[in-house]
Amino acid sequence: LTVFSESEGLITILAKGIRKSKKQEYTLLNLLNEYELVFTEPAQGNLPILSELTLLKDFPTDLPLQTWIYAQAAVELITKVLLPAEEITLVYQLLSRYLDYLQRVQTNAVCIFWRFVLHLLNLMGIPINLYRCSACGKPQDGFSAYSPLTGQLLCDECQQKAPTSFSLNQESSHILSLLPQIGNYLEDLVLSDEMVRQLHHFFLYYLSVQFNRDIHLKSLGL
Ligand SMILES: [Zn+2]
Repeated sequence: LTVFSESEGLITILAKGIRKSKKQEYTLLNLLNEYELVFTEPAQGNLPILSELTLLKDFPTDLPLQTWIYAQAAVELITKVLLPAEEITLVYQLLSRYLDYLQRVQTNAVCIFWRFVLHLLNLMGIPINLYRCSACGKPQDGFSAYSPLTGQLLCDECQQKAPTSFSLNQESSHILSLLPQIGNYLEDLVLSDEMVRQLHHFFLYYLSVQFNRDIHLKSLGL
């Protein structure tokens, strides 16, 4: 099992016989559930071995597909980035709150996912500034582009000076500026496929630049 633990971060545990077990807690093993695990201290070169597993909180299985997709996307993202060891507990708590909140969201769950990414970036020490141009530092109400070099937002003036840049349409830029308070607007927003595509690209591109490799989430392919 690969698990994300509040104290250790991402770890792999050997769960002997888990696939064949008839124990109810094993058959209910679910990607988005929260468990208490007891495992042996790993001997040198070996994986720790699971000895006990107790379900603490389950993620309901009867939620809309969108809720599932964005819940899984957040978990997948955690496995793709390097988390600073000192922030593991805060990231764990962020993920836990996100999964709880997402269950109550009726519409535009994707916006809550983007807000989660913003918070995660803050905890990782690589925040995106939504209100100032990354090149000239001038305050902005919106952005029409981001830089292929840094993944950061550019004002119109700096965009024109840059040899190339990725465009954001006005609606996508508006959603970005609302993200920190997006919970207040969820019911009223209408998102087009193009806006969702643009903003997924914006966040994943930014992460790819930061980690110097292509970060892609299979969950979002759904
Ligand atoms: Zn600028």
